[in-house]
Amino acid sequence: MQEKSIEFYQRSELYSYVDTSDRFMKLSKQVAVEESLTPVFPIGIVIVRDGVVVAKGANGNGYHEKNLNSEFHIKGCKRRYLSKKLEEAGKPKLKSGEKFETCPGCDYKVHAEVKAIEKVSDKSILKDAVVYMFGHWWSCFNCWEVMNSVGIKEVCVVEDFKDKQFQVKWREEFARLKATKSQK
Ligand SMILES: [Zn+2]
Ligand SMILES: [Zn+2]
Repeated sequence: MQEKSIEFYQRSELYSYVDTSDRFMKLSKQVAVEESLTPVFPIGIVIVRDGVVVAKGANGNGYHEKNLNSEFHIKGCKRRYLSKKLEEAGKPKLKSGEKFETCPGCDYKVHAEVKAIEKVSDKSILKDAVVYMFGHWWSCFNCWEVMNSVGIKEVCVVEDFKDKQFQVKWREEFARLKATKSQK
């Protein structure tokens, strides 16, 4: 598969838009709350085949959180730092989804799609399965490559996440739910 533009992977034809009330979407949200290690961008996934959940996963590896005060990072992220430097040099800053490989906390290997798939030892059960993703509305080139390689047939997302305000609300809710959980 040839790497295409970020805009290509954001096209609505590639995704099924599902309501937040969908039971698998609710489950994906729960997985994000339980497993995501990135409060700035929490994403949860369940993979469903024939109506049965066969895998789940969430994004992050704690890198951003560990490097909050590190040099050459912004909010723990090398990519944000690079983007800022580019901007200061009068160059275009990085687009959403661009140069994930420049930061260990942004790398596709810690994306929810790949982490969920990695956990499955018998990849054949993923053939013709459906990915439900809560927290984001498109998947990057690398995740598509991995999903295609195991035969994922459909990717369901919540279209509201295109709206920045909706994303902010979700982050706030995530923080609240996390806090409640840790009190227990
Ligand atoms: Zn990063
Ligand atoms: Zn990805």
